[in-house]
Amino acid sequence: MPELRQDPTTNEWVIIARERAKRPYDFLLDREVRLLPDHVEDCPFCPGNERLTPPEISVYHRDSDRSNWIIRIIPNMFPALTPKTTTEEKLVDSHFKARGGFGFHEVIIESPRHNETLSEMDELHVALLIQAYRDRYAVLSGDARVKMIIIFRNHGVTAGTSLEHPHSQIVASPVVSACAEKKSEIAGSYYNRTGRCLYCDINRWEIESGSRLVFGNDKFAVFNPFASRYPFEMWISPKNHQASFGNIEPADISELGKVLRESIRRMNSLLANPDYNYVFHTAPVEEENAKHLHWYVQIVPRIWTVAGFEIGSGIYINTIVPEDSAKFMREV
Ligand SMILES: [Zn+2]
Ligand SMILES: [Zn+2]
Repeated sequence: MPELRQDPTTNEWVIIARERAKRPYDFLLDREVRLLPDHVEDCPFCPGNERLTPPEISVYHRDSDRSNWIIRIIPNMFPALTPKTTTEEKLVDSHFKARGGFGFHEVIIESPRHNETLSEMDELHVALLIQAYRDRYAVLSGDARVKMIIIFRNHGVTAGTSLEHPHSQIVASPVVSACAEKKSEIAGSYYNRTGRCLYCDINRWEIESGSRLVFGNDKFAVFNPFASRYPFEMWISPKNHQASFGNIEPADISELGKVLRESIRRMNSLLANPDYNYVFHTAPVEEENAKHLHWYVQIVPRIWTVAGFEIGSGIYINTIVPEDSAKFMREV
């Protein structure tokens, strides 16, 4: 029978449609697999074409090779938000609230190789990528107008990117989203009631149960959340309490890199290299040291699309039981 499950972090309901329970191969999309070349002559992100992008904000090298970049950060050429305007509030048509589209939108070119994705990178390279996220977070959060920072990766056309060269993005916003405010309220009232961080408790519950756990190490737990909205959705959550990714310890950076790479490898081998998004959910800048908030990375394979019911109700239908998807991911 189907089951309604409530996400304790958002209070949103999800329908787990047990009757439609599927095996991983039911989710494999019939799509053309294209092998990408190592270098593309007119790709703006490939080495040698640096002039096709705005000047770089920073670059990262290997110690063994200082002459070639392996990660390059540039302003987005078509930014969602820009530092060239203000955050000024105004009323449109006398009633509607609006404000200037101030903010930052940066692109992290993850590799000089057109076809090298995170799952194939060596450990040092992945750690440098996480370091780059951390460094940009530190700089952008230093601007007093920035209230919320989202780090994310869109991999593949159905995940929202048209540029195939591996890259992630960072958006620094002058407003906190209503969804982040709601999560803070829910976790704040949980903290007031119990004296504990809801997310630390969820980690503990998931580890104790083990049924939705995919894998983990000393520092991070990886699981399919109890009320997963998306089939095979994964969370990577730090085991020690920490509200903001911006506060990650240097020693944990390479650990996170290893866990992120392992998660994506498992997803790729189970679901035949799907398009995917990953998102760093981290406390709003002004709540960086909150006792009730806790950062995590959410990975969503794009093997499914939102339909009318979800748009109308906000209730998602997940066609695989998280306990089953976690089992497949553990055993892959
Ligand atoms: Zn390229
Ligand atoms: Zn916590």
